[in-house]
Amino acid sequence: MQYVDSITGATYSLGEPRWRGDSGGHVNLGPAPGLKRGDIDGSVNSLWRYRKALLVDAGSAVTMGEGWTPLVRAAWDGITVDLKLDFMMPTGSFKDRGMTVMVSYLKSRGVTEVLEDSSGNAGASLSAYCARAGMRCRVLVPESASYPKIAQIAACGADVVTIRGSRQDVADAALAMSRKIFYASHNWQPFFGEGTKTLAYELWEQLGFRTPDSVVMPVGYGANVLGCDRGFSELLRNREIQHMPRLYGVQAANCAPYFAAFRAGVEHFVPVPVSATVAEGIASSKPTRMREVLAPVRASGGEIVAVTEDEIVRALAGLAKRGFYVEPTSAAAAAGLSQLIARGAIRPGETTVLVLTGTGLKASESVGRLLGVGASTQ
Ligand SMILES: *Cc1c(COP(=O)(O)O)cnc(C)c1O
Repeated sequence: MQYVDSITGATYSLGEPRWRGDSGGHVNLGPAPGLKRGDIDGSVNSLWRYRKALLVDAGSAVTMGEGWTPLVRAAWDGITVDLKLDFMMPTGSFKDRGMTVMVSYLKSRGVTEVLEDSSGNAGASLSAYCARAGMRCRVLVPESASYPKIAQIAACGADVVTIRGSRQDVADAALAMSRKIFYASHNWQPFFGEGTKTLAYELWEQLGFRTPDSVVMPVGYGANVLGCDRGFSELLRNREIQHMPRLYGVQAANCAPYFAAFRAGVEHFVPVPVSATVAEGIASSKPTRMREVLAPVRASGGEIVAVTEDEIVRALAGLAKRGFYVEPTSAAAAAGLSQLIARGAIRPGETTVLVLTGTGLKASESVGRLLGVGASTQ
């Protein structure tokens, strides 16, 4: 296994940790062998039950019991859906799925200090896994990041720096610092995606070794789509499943570069106007892996959907009313699901998974404000 440069096709050894190729473009990992159902270690109640399929030595695993999250049936707009509760992770978001594998890889290669930029959850996850690994960590966040996320990052020991401007300004500031500290950006370093592929494995195992018909998930950079593509493709190659699920990626209409490219029928970045969104976790105006996300979405028969701020808030309320207290970013996916059901793209009787990526507990101030809820006085 080697890194493959996305621009030149040059290959690089995994022995030398890197976050991009000599061309300046991102690097990907070549196809991995994956596993068959007999390879699952059922005695491990975390995503490391699939360690046979992960490209890191499980002996160097930096783990906090992440993954193997519940899959819970619920009614949504007249159909039955399976909610994947990926907000039930050690740090409260799906980012732990990728971070456990990426930090395990970096530690095994002797990296002792890392840099990351994040809207909040990735930084919180990296900070926690670095604490566990005994690595130093610096995280750049937008000034607008929610305070609970900043507190969480700092409490776990990372050096947190707020940057004025947009999410893209934060990424640019991190790039500028990357000469001095290893840039462990989960949006560049492909071992993050190696971890997120376990989403596909878990859905397959939890559904009784079957493929769902559809998976609906929020998309900023697109880690969940990339993970589903990689994981389900491995299962398909190993003849453990017969077909890929339809992959549906949901963006906030206020920040929707994937939606614009999907609509335009292209697989490269097209500039789009961007404005603020309550879905802070997907407010990514210039994603890294356009083609790698758009091609599998199209090939699967899925689509990229965009939802308005009002639709997000309505879905947030609907999830909370069912007991699922998530952050607005996660509710965006549920809003996308509502559109797909209304249009008949997703139908009753199918197996539909909705991925809920982040807990509401870090976003209570905005959730309370958006839903207009609070205590009454006697
Ligand atoms: C980071 C994040 C996302 C988006 O992940 P991408 O890889 O950027 O698509 C979705 N939901 C939550 C809660 C997140 O923290």
